Amino acid sequence: MKKVYPPEENVLDRSIRFLKGVGPKRAALLIKLGVKTIEDLLFLFPRRYEDRRHITPMSSIEPDTFATLLVRVVGVEKRTTRKRNLELTIATITDGSQIAQALWFNRKRLENILLPGTVVALYGKARKSFGLLQVINPEFEIVEAEGSPEEAGKIVPVYPLTEGLNQRWLRLLVRQALMEYLPYVEEFMPPEILARNGLPSLKDALLGYHYPDDERCWKLCRKRLAFDELFLLQLGLAVKKTQLKNEAKAPRLSWHGPLQRDFIERCLNFELTGAQKKVLQEIADDVTKDVPMNRLLQGDVGSGKTVIAVAAMLASADAGFQSALMVPTEVLAKQHYSKISAWLDELNLKATLLTSSLTPQERQKAYDDIKVGKSNIVIGTHALIQEGVEFQRLGLVVIDEQHRFGVLQRLTLADKGKCPHVLVMTATPIPRTLALTVYGDLSVSVIDELPPGRSPIKTQWIRKSRLHDLYQFIKDRLSLGEQAYWVCPLIDESESLDATSVLERYESLCKEFSGFKVGLLHGRLDVAGKYEAYEAFVRHEMDLLVATSVIEVGVDVPSASIIVIEDAYRFGLSQLHQLRGRVGRGSIKGFCFLLGEAPTPEAKRRFKVLCSTNDGFVIAEEDLKLRGPGAFCGVRQHGITDFKVADLVKDVELLQKARVEAQKLVSEDPMLSKNPLLKRKLLITLGEALSLALTA
Ligand code: ADP
Ligand code: MG
Repeated sequence: MKKVYPPEENVLDRSIRFLKGVGPKRAALLIKLGVKTIEDLLFLFPRRYEDRRHITPMSSIEPDTFATLLVRVVGVEKRTTRKRNLELTIATITDGSQIAQALWFNRKRLENILLPGTVVALYGKARKSFGLLQVINPEFEIVEAEGSPEEAGKIVPVYPLTEGLNQRWLRLLVRQALMEYLPYVEEFMPPEILARNGLPSLKDALLGYHYPDDERCWKLCRKRLAFDELFLLQLGLAVKKTQLKNEAKAPRLSWHGPLQRDFIERCLNFELTGAQKKVLQEIADDVTKDVPMNRLLQGDVGSGKTVIAVAAMLASADAGFQSALMVPTEVLAKQHYSKISAWLDELNLKATLLTSSLTPQERQKAYDDIKVGKSNIVIGTHALIQEGVEFQRLGLVVIDEQHRFGVLQRLTLADKGKCPHVLVMTATPIPRTLALTVYGDLSVSVIDELPPGRSPIKTQWIRKSRLHDLYQFIKDRLSLGEQAYWVCPLIDESESLDATSVLERYESLCKEFSGFKVGLLHGRLDVAGKYEAYEAFVRHEMDLLVATSVIEVGVDVPSASIIVIEDAYRFGLSQLHQLRGRVGRGSIKGFCFLLGEAPTPEAKRRFKVLCSTNDGFVIAEEDLKLRGPGAFCGVRQHGITDFKVADLVKDVELLQKARVEAQKLVSEDPMLSKNPLLKRKLLITLGEALSLALTA
């Protein structure tokens, strides 16, 4: 496959090392924020703003509020406290009306910067200490020093940070980048489109989004940047679609073939539910035709989507085609693999596992098996869409938990075959209008019934003061041979002070549950470690699994009956519902405990909703109401469709406009040859998924 790179070198593609003050260390930190190039930095948007247009005189400062002060440094001193080696920098400051202090903890060399006489703008929280006004750890900006433009009196951007970077430094860096490189930013949007939609130029929008003059300016700049994101995605989809139209026909799969029949009649030890049968029929109607299927399967957690996927993949095998199943995590890939390969063994078919943790030899073997058609069903993570993966005859692509993937990752996988059928499965219901606008022509199937014998999960919110009752309850259940999950939001303490970490909790639970086997699973274990812990839990060599939310997606252990979600307020509604879905998956009644305080009204609302319903659709609607923008449509989570500015809920109208413009443009200029800058931008933004379409 030929890779397509943008035609010429671009100044904005330069490394951020080109900027003053960025050495290897800071460059490495910036990479954590996704910033490698100058362009990345220009597009590193503020996470919020501080309105410093109003300077507060010291005399009217309210303690415990944030304020902007414009002051002169009178004196500065350094003090070490005996306690915990704290080093204090204390500046005495005045604004003419009175004297106050600014305090910083452990900040090196501040005394060399804040020389007496310097005028600085301070922004921070004030307090009164023995009648003296103090500002603690304020951000500051030297106002009179040469070369440093004033921020006092402005709306100031606040950027996302990572440990080791400070706000002031990053802000200056972005400003440096804006000043030096903004002139190189090229307008890629056709002028008619800008004019028709009342959008500012890209240069203006970038500058104004970092440093808005006022709210109106901010809104306009935001509109342009959001439009770009939506438009480029719609353009990508439109280009892709034009290409698909010209392509070969989809393979016809054979329904009710021997493999599929054997699977349903012999491999499964249960009867399919009515809803499962209905959905299978809908899929059958699609895949037996030569128009590629594009179907979204929605079904609540535990409704039995995996069986549907396997039945469909066997229809593909019956017709002599391969299938691919893509899932978001390695643990899930392995879980599916072990389950599905057991079924396929009975049918004399071969399943292949493809994840990024295979050794080079294993990977090569997998690639070979896939290429010559030896493997019938390939199960994997993102590794499936790598360049080296070639199928002999790919008939069907299934994507599980699709809200985790971007729209274009789906297209890339489909690209591995000649127009394969595509089935995407999700437990997160997507509002229909949104799905249609984002995905285009997508049919929707719904499993609206759970397998029989499931009793609804009982959900309860409890405070930590009742921890011991909870322990007792769990012990009683574990003694009956049931299993439990205990989920904590963080891995270790250092991440935050106000939540219990999984390591801490693991230690205390090991002591508390000394008669039981307690295991640990979190994201920092390597893949083998993660899977080992998970497997041990599946084999019931472990009674209680203490984990982070890595277990959220798809993990299926029928004898697990209890899930405790500690500091549950830290999770969103849909995520809590997903986590809860880990229990009550068999005939044993499931219990979910939301442990800890609900510090905000919104958290309380989330808990209430969860305690009152098990219906994923109701929960999704509530989630949409509570959060507005969501993890819907795979737009937030990964790579190429990560919108930085656009918001699929608030910007529905803008999305419509972007869609119309994109379709119009592609109908006039299908290969974008009349719009080279736009084409280049599209390739950079959407990457390989589109390169084929635009070079054919
Ligand atoms: P999800 O829709 O969340 O992916 P799964 O496919 O993992 O759900 O199914 C959940 C559990 O229910 C699995 O253990 C599966 O074997 C079982 N199951 C699926 N369909 C049925 C059915 N019709 N009757 C009984 N159990 C079923
Ligand atoms: Mg599943």
